[in-house]
Amino acid sequence: DLFYRLLPKVELHAHLNGSVSSETMETLIKRKPHLNIEHSMTAIRRGQRRSLDECFQVFKVIHQLVDSEEDILMVAKAVIQEFAADGVKYLELRSTPREVTETGLTKQRYIETVLEAIRQCKQEEVDIDVRFIVAVDRRHGPLVAMETVKLAEDFLLSSDGVVVGLDLSGDPTVGHGKDLLSALEKAKNCGLKLALHLSEVPSQREESELLLNLPPDRIGHGTFLHPEFGGSDSLVDKVCKQNIPIEMCLTSNVKGQTVPSYDKHHFQYWYKRGHPCVLCTDDKGVFCTDLSQEYQLAASTFGLTQEAVWMLSQQAIGYTFAPEPIKQRLEKKWAELKQQIL
Ligand code: IMP
Repeated sequence: DLFYRLLPKVELHAHLNGSVSSETMETLIKRKPHLNIEHSMTAIRRGQRRSLDECFQVFKVIHQLVDSEEDILMVAKAVIQEFAADGVKYLELRSTPREVTETGLTKQRYIETVLEAIRQCKQEEVDIDVRFIVAVDRRHGPLVAMETVKLAEDFLLSSDGVVVGLDLSGDPTVGHGKDLLSALEKAKNCGLKLALHLSEVPSQREESELLLNLPPDRIGHGTFLHPEFGGSDSLVDKVCKQNIPIEMCLTSNVKGQTVPSYDKHHFQYWYKRGHPCVLCTDDKGVFCTDLSQEYQLAASTFGLTQEAVWMLSQQAIGYTFAPEPIKQRLEKKWAELKQQIL
């Protein structure tokens, strides 16, 4: 539907390697025929479902395909251009810096290369403002987390405002947040904004209690925070009192089977309470979606009017990690476009 494409959008939860489109994937597969990777291994198509565990296997395959500076530059540029073509005006991209001995890739160069892609897109006047969130993979434990925070801290100071925050992600069934708490506290103290995956699976209740005391600046998923989904009133209280925006990824959660169906998605629970919610794609490549589709899906599932959809996308500006002048610039853009589109 044209309305959803034309709607100016803010994307705040997008993992770089999960966002690689099928076109780019074709190119990567052709570049590395010896890996014997088929396209069906990197995408979960319409009607298909996978366990969360299988989703994490998919990322391992993609990481084999994206393992050099050249790959990262190509993938990041393509992903940014695709979001722009979908009407995303402001994007916070996140990615886990990786080291690959065979290709000489270091974590430092990994981040520099993503920043180079962002710079090139800006130079080519792609109509989108892009920021970067450095991701910590919880699977790698506290030492790596601390090392990543230090790296992110360096870039916070040197990237001219492009690096804005730190993410905590990775397989939620592995590791415990308590071991990562000191790294996350350090990140917060040095001015990095925190976007943390919380309660993506039911077993994370205790961890979420702990991490909500930081508190994070945004929550990823938060599927099992509320009592109807096995969370608790105390968790909901903490989230509400601190008014922490929640990033919601409908297709990702249904295809990854942490939510049984679209109409049972926790978006409903928080949205009805007037809590800050922002629709996001998570991994548009892996889950074969885009942000327009996510807005349309939310509208059709929960009966949102076009005015309500517009409000959702506009309110997301307030939940970005962008400095105030950028938020004002986005507000102005939304106001101009509103007359043409709504
Ligand atoms: P990358 O950080 O750019 O390599 O993007 C892929 C990575 O993002 C995965 O290896 C996970 O660590 C993380 N990720 C992507 N989707 C999810 C999710 O739904 N939950 C938790 N972590 C995720």
